[in-house]
Amino acid sequence: MMEDVTLSFDALADRVRAVLEAAGFCAAQAGALARVVAAAERDGAKSHGLYRLDGMLASARAGVVDPRAEPALVPDDGTAVIRVNAGFGFAPAALELGAPLLAERARALGIAALVVNDCGHLSALWPEVELMTAQGLACLAMCPSYSTVAPAGGTAPLLGTNPFAFGWPRPGGDPYVFDIATSVAARGEIELHRLAGKNLPEGWALDPEGRPTTDPSQALAGAMLPFGGHKGSALGTMIELLGAVLIGDLTSRDCLDRIRTTTLSPIHGELLIAFAPEVFAKGRPGDPFARAEVLFEAIVGQGARLPSQRRFTARARSAAEGIRLSAAEVAKLDALANG
Ligand code: NDP
Repeated sequence: MMEDVTLSFDALADRVRAVLEAAGFCAAQAGALARVVAAAERDGAKSHGLYRLDGMLASARAGVVDPRAEPALVPDDGTAVIRVNAGFGFAPAALELGAPLLAERARALGIAALVVNDCGHLSALWPEVELMTAQGLACLAMCPSYSTVAPAGGTAPLLGTNPFAFGWPRPGGDPYVFDIATSVAARGEIELHRLAGKNLPEGWALDPEGRPTTDPSQALAGAMLPFGGHKGSALGTMIELLGAVLIGDLTSRDCLDRIRTTTLSPIHGELLIAFAPEVFAKGRPGDPFARAEVLFEAIVGQGARLPSQRRFTARARSAAEGIRLSAAEVAKLDALANG
């Protein structure tokens, strides 16, 4: 049996970048994507790590995402809304471009938003909220996807799996971060049940006629359901409104109409809203960062865990021991980089 391989963050990011550059990605796209992929592997978030490379390469080959896009800041006059046009490249390069200005504006104004238009997004959202928590800012992030989720009480795909993330900075420690899909389960989970010949739990999906089903094949042909019934449905709808309609970009339905597949990267926009806690709490009793710690301690004090702790534990392990990959994963990277 082949041994696992241990790499530093930079060594892994370099290898991923080499794969993307060999496939024609420009330096801005390849560098930003490589950092996001390496961060996911570092954090043990395998579903958004190397596993996503094939989708990135296929989306570029199919012309859905432009691997040579150079994101551009849209000039503004110092308002709270900053805009980056991603030029139909992947989101991470656009986010890296806009994040410093978003942080600067949020500190100056108390609140600021970063709108990313015309991007492909195959990643998790915690990397972007952590860009802001690292600057001492709280942050919300959201984007639509393609229509695969029926609204609660509905019968057919309309909403996307619409991820939603939030981060709160914790001085001297890992931030508080959650990052959730608003569907009850990832589409990949349904595929895994199908491959294993297992039925789905009740409440996950509808068949093509809009009837509840536990058959994964029927579910894949039909629709997924939002988490938490009408509550997840409302959140998913809010993300269509704020992360698409508000910012003049594609809804999940528009996206599916445009690209006509759920096997490549969705294209749409993304919205980040950053908050400076010390500005909001100014003149009020108590330091907001200290008060947040009281809340986190109370949560953990009951035996609950904070979201993202699993990732932060994996991150600490990777910092101490390196990022562990299978020999097959590294061999695939090397083969792809060498054409
Ligand atoms: P999960 O249900 O696995 O977890 C979501 C969040 O909940 C994580 O922050 C996780 O922290 C936390 N969590 C899980 N279990 C617990 C627990 N017992 N106590 C406290 N917190 C917990 O993920 P989802 O399936 O909802 O979403 C997965 C990812 O997929 C997200 O990163 C999302 O951004 C991404 N996504 C991206 C899309 C796109 O189009 N770009 C579309 C849909 C989803 P921890 O990591 O520590 O377990």
